[in-house]
Amino acid sequence: MTDLTIALSKGRIFEETLPLLAAAGIIPNENPESSRKLIIGTNHEHIKLVIVRASDVPTYVQYGAADLGIAGKDVLIEHGGHGLYQPLDLNIAKCKMMVAVKNGFNYEQSAHAGARLSVATKYPKIAREHFSAKGVHVDIIKLYGSMELAPLVGLSDAIVDLVSTGSTLKANNLVAVEHIQDIASNLIVNKAALKLKYNQIEPIIDAFASAIKES
Ligand code: ATP
Ligand code: MG
Repeated sequence: MTDLTIALSKGRIFEETLPLLAAAGIIPNENPESSRKLIIGTNHEHIKLVIVRASDVPTYVQYGAADLGIAGKDVLIEHGGHGLYQPLDLNIAKCKMMVAVKNGFNYEQSAHAGARLSVATKYPKIAREHFSAKGVHVDIIKLYGSMELAPLVGLSDAIVDLVSTGSTLKANNLVAVEHIQDIASNLIVNKAALKLKYNQIEPIIDAFASAIKES
């Protein structure tokens, strides 16, 4: 048996992937929340997990450092998906990509075709595509976190960010004004690995697929 490596991020993706791994008969030896290890073994001698930053998962899989991975569509769109098969929408880590502004900001008037808007976001590609389809000129301000702060301190007119319950927006006096798209996580597979390790990878894809149907 050749070695198989699966790239995951800590937190919600790891937690929500555990039942899918279990359906494929894969049980991690440790929890990355409590362990400081970046490489985690499993009940299968030949299968290991590597724990990386959510936005780095596609990169590890693209270059074959991991054979499989699980990444949010937000991350996959920004990455571009080069070298990746995306065989399954796992229906986990669900949220929405939204445009939000400070309560009281007149978005309708500020985001018409031909207008110019400043937008702070961790997702420049998604934001640029969304506003270009509307004919709105945007100045994108790239941030790495806490986008909610930007409109409050005058860094930007709007933000493009992931929203699940909306409580962070509410706590910061922001309102969602536009829904860009629904987000969930996908299984991703290195294209070369899928061919070379088909006998090992295909049963995992099948087990994940039937676990999703049952949930
Ligand atoms: P980091 O926290 O390391 O900056 P991140 O925010 O991208 O990175 P996570 O918070 O673990 O990492 O999110 C992983 C994925 O889960 C995201 O790429 C997205 O698809 C999804 N996600 C993000 N926020 C939420 C949320 N509030 N509810 C549900 N899913 C979310
Ligand atoms: Mg996060």
